[in-house]
Amino acid sequence: MYDSRNIFARILRGEIPCDKVYEDDFVLAFRDIAPKAPVHILVIPKAPYIDLADFSAHASGAEIEGFFRAVAKIAAEQNLTPQGFRSIANTGVHGGQEVPHFHLHLLGGAPIGPMVSEA
Ligand code: 5GP
Repeated sequence: MYDSRNIFARILRGEIPCDKVYEDDFVLAFRDIAPKAPVHILVIPKAPYIDLADFSAHASGAEIEGFFRAVAKIAAEQNLTPQGFRSIANTGVHGGQEVPHFHLHLLGGAPIGPMVSEA
């Protein structure tokens, strides 16, 4: 069950400010409050999906297309595309997801390092 009290739902409702970098009918993108790279952007759908599994199972084709077209635009606008970047969708407990509104992290601006830390 989606919990509409989560912090990203509050950002979408305008209850909490964010450093917005992009917005269209389907997505909002803003800078992470605790950046882990020189560029660290969170891309979120405007509709209430809990995580990647929920989004990919239940979003409409238009929502899924809108989301990923926006990712491409944001990566290009932020000059991430030429040198590359990492995209991460932490999902659920094992994925270490903290905020239960689906979001894609875009990390770049410098080499990001190993894909996962050593156990
Ligand atoms: P997760 O662990 O759920 O994949 O990532 C959640 C991310 O949201 C974290 O990187 C965290 O720094 C970021 N975050 C948490 N609260 C806020 C907030 O109020 N504003 C912004 N811009 N980012 C937040």
